[in-house]
Amino acid sequence: MSEKTIFELSSPGRQGVRFPAPDVTPAELPDESLIRADLPLPELAEVDVIRHFTALSKLNYCVDSGLYPLGSCTMKYNPRINEDMARLPGFAFTHPLQPIETIQGSLALMFQMQEWLKEISGFEGVTLEPAAGAQGELVGVLIIRAYHQSRGDTKRTKILIPDSAHGTNPATSAMSGFEVLPVPSDARGNVDLEALKAVCDDTLAGLMLTNPNTLGLFDEHVLELIDIVHKAGGLVYGDGANLNAIMGVVRPGDLGIDVMHFNLHKTFSTPHGGGGPGSGPVGVAKHLVDFLPDPVVGIIEDATEEMPPLYGFVTPAKTIGRIKSFAGHFGVIVRAYTYVLMHGAEGLRDISEMAVLNANYLLSKIRHAYTLPYNRTCMHEFVLEGVWPDVADVHALDIAKRLMDYDYHPPTNYFPLIVHEALMIEPTETESKQTLDAFAETLLKIAEEAHTTPELLKEAPHKTPIGRVDEVRAARDLVLCCWIPEEPVK
Ligand SMILES: *Cc1c(COP(=O)(O)O)cnc(C)c1O
Repeated sequence: MSEKTIFELSSPGRQGVRFPAPDVTPAELPDESLIRADLPLPELAEVDVIRHFTALSKLNYCVDSGLYPLGSCTMKYNPRINEDMARLPGFAFTHPLQPIETIQGSLALMFQMQEWLKEISGFEGVTLEPAAGAQGELVGVLIIRAYHQSRGDTKRTKILIPDSAHGTNPATSAMSGFEVLPVPSDARGNVDLEALKAVCDDTLAGLMLTNPNTLGLFDEHVLELIDIVHKAGGLVYGDGANLNAIMGVVRPGDLGIDVMHFNLHKTFSTPHGGGGPGSGPVGVAKHLVDFLPDPVVGIIEDATEEMPPLYGFVTPAKTIGRIKSFAGHFGVIVRAYTYVLMHGAEGLRDISEMAVLNANYLLSKIRHAYTLPYNRTCMHEFVLEGVWPDVADVHALDIAKRLMDYDYHPPTNYFPLIVHEALMIEPTETESKQTLDAFAETLLKIAEEAHTTPELLKEAPHKTPIGRVDEVRAARDLVLCCWIPEEPVK
């Protein structure tokens, strides 16, 4: 592609648009001195503009261009039928303030989605309101707080977070006014039960458990752990972002988890990333149903012989209140609904089984060449250490950058924090054996390069317009600028 900016491509006098001759009397222009004629606008033909922006769009790596093994994010392929359904005029053009009689189809879809999520998770109630996983966590922790307060149990001020949890968990607890206490993992990557018992007392509000955890491991003592927290009077929050590993196999509600969020934009194939709309529904066990945010979708008039039920919005009895405008990200819910409908119960189980199989297949092909800190069968993802004892000065970041030279999106790195130089790889079930084989080959090749030509890794990426940036400054000190010939403009 041309690496020139649109200003450098400009050619004086070239035009992309031609205005038709005016069919009204031209208005008087203001005084010459008020009109700027020297704006540095590029002059291009339509085809130049199209090529320029098409080339820019190709710089953007996406799941439609290749494998996106970003651990914890479940970057599975988003089937196009989801988009077709979300664009049906009856869904796309509804207004949230329409009278409910005119949006019965949309409400029926939301009601059904709540029912399906309950069935998939084993919970008694579901809200579709939260905008993303992290907002779902906030809802869940506020529900835990409201539950204790409703019982007059006000001394419960702390929330336990295993050190293998997602970073949003401690952030959510702190935002909700709780004291956050970490719980260490044991040598097999499970929550350390002895350490857990030592911090459980009558000030415990709850524990936030990511299971499978961010090491890609299912906690082997999950039932005991939940029992310990419950015996201390606390509730267990389940971070359900990793549901893609267990759908149709284990139901978090059946394990005894009290409240959990789903990530529709991970497990249920709705697009995510780039700050786009997500959806983080929350499921709760029976004793928490009354605390759900306002409103949930319910049946407000039962079906009769002649009429279907009337759906509407219902306010739970002890609601924590409204958490999001209107009823959540409806378009995302339509996509997830389509996905569930397309796969059915058996299909959802197959998805999880394939996700776990794919991750273990990939791991089995590369584990001899990398360090695996927790050497167990993984769930839908695994975490490597991106360093070798016999190679000085090559880090996880260098491996991630080198993968870009081979046209892959890098895995998650430096997370989870409990693994030194972590590389967290999640292939998802939508990748074929051929894709996994090719990716494994590349990872093996990079391991070899690290030993023979480490500078290739240290200097990567070589193919991108911009190489290494100062990662912290790039995020904190945004300078969006463009150049016009001669004169830089900020
Ligand atoms: C993605 C993720 C979250 C947060 O979800 P968002 O939708 O990104 O807010 C929480 N926990 C885990 C384990 C995750 O992977």
